[in-house]
Amino acid sequence: MPGERTTSVHGREEPRAGPLVTPIHQTSTFVLASAQEVDDVYEGRRQGDVYTRYSNPSTTSVESRLAALEGTQDAVVSGSGMAAIATGVLAFVGAGGRIVSTSDLYGGTINLFRTLESRFGIRIDHVSPTDVDALRAALRTKADLVYLETPTNPTLRLVDLAQSAQIARAAGAVTLVDSTFASPVNSRPHALGIDLVMHSATKYLGGHSDISAGAVCGSREHVARVRGLHKLMGAVLDPHAAFLLERGLRTLPLRVKAANDNAQAVAEHLARHPAVKRVHYPGLPSHPQHALAKRQMPGGYGGLLSFDLASFDDAKRFLDGLRVVRNAASLGGVESLCSLPLQQSHRNQPKEVLDRAGIVPGTVRLALGIEDAADLVADVDQALKGL
Ligand SMILES: *Cc1c(COP(=O)(O)O)cnc(C)c1O
Repeated sequence: MPGERTTSVHGREEPRAGPLVTPIHQTSTFVLASAQEVDDVYEGRRQGDVYTRYSNPSTTSVESRLAALEGTQDAVVSGSGMAAIATGVLAFVGAGGRIVSTSDLYGGTINLFRTLESRFGIRIDHVSPTDVDALRAALRTKADLVYLETPTNPTLRLVDLAQSAQIARAAGAVTLVDSTFASPVNSRPHALGIDLVMHSATKYLGGHSDISAGAVCGSREHVARVRGLHKLMGAVLDPHAAFLLERGLRTLPLRVKAANDNAQAVAEHLARHPAVKRVHYPGLPSHPQHALAKRQMPGGYGGLLSFDLASFDDAKRFLDGLRVVRNAASLGGVESLCSLPLQQSHRNQPKEVLDRAGIVPGTVRLALGIEDAADLVADVDQALKGL
């Protein structure tokens, strides 16, 4: 098996004559050679493209590279992370079905789940991300899908994937994890027994904050179900965005390693700073699940961290004092970004949601990019001086 950098550069492709880089197949439809070929392609006797919403060489190419990186048989890419979540979930849960999910989910996922509950009568039960016994108890009643997200936003709690997968399998439920924060470099959920691994490819996979994309990776059978729904819902990724995503994947291990190192350096610095009440980062020995993080994230602890200042006003002053780190939501690009959960991801959330997630008014989230660690530490330091 080639190493991860080799895989991210070359995918599973054998060398062949022709363009080194997959061209952008900017076309909505494909000319077929004959009436016979139309039948052959539709009947699966021959691989071919018919219409871009069904398949396109630019998306097929990036799907194959992504599956290689995630260690799965197949992958399907979509126009956004939310499209990947919606099709991934609805491929396995119908009207009146049941999902058991961890809490502390991405805001869009929470809103999607609320819509599925009210519009389709899908029952969704939430358990704490750190409580596998609660998951086991919730699965005493039949569920179609176990939906997980790890590490969580913004307090970086971990869901034990190997244990969750085992419990879900015994209960006959399909497992899907949102692995956006970890990326395939830091964690490989499928190797731990998780059926489907979802990414907002807008983040680390694309890596340059210039596309919107999503992906679901898994076995051929599972991905085929997602792909079927994906075609019907038109969740397709544009060929040009697929090209940019593939370009991003070539440097994924380098970028993620740099972000991991930067987050570790900034987390260690913040943990020593008197103005900082608490730092949430799985790479710190003080993180309550540091041992699990070591096992489950062998590639690194990720580029995200959060920390608590004394008040919301202090958090705002810190944000306004930054000079290198930019004030923006999102993560996973080469640029370091800072956002306040109370202003962005958890805006207008009730207090019990904030309490459950461990968010206080002074919580600040940093998504580290690939700049020099010394410059990021100095920037954070000078912004803290202004409080
Ligand atoms: C951004 C994000 C999503 C949604 O992805 P989009 O590409 O914005 O649709 C889902 N989950 C997590 C953890 C995210 O960070």
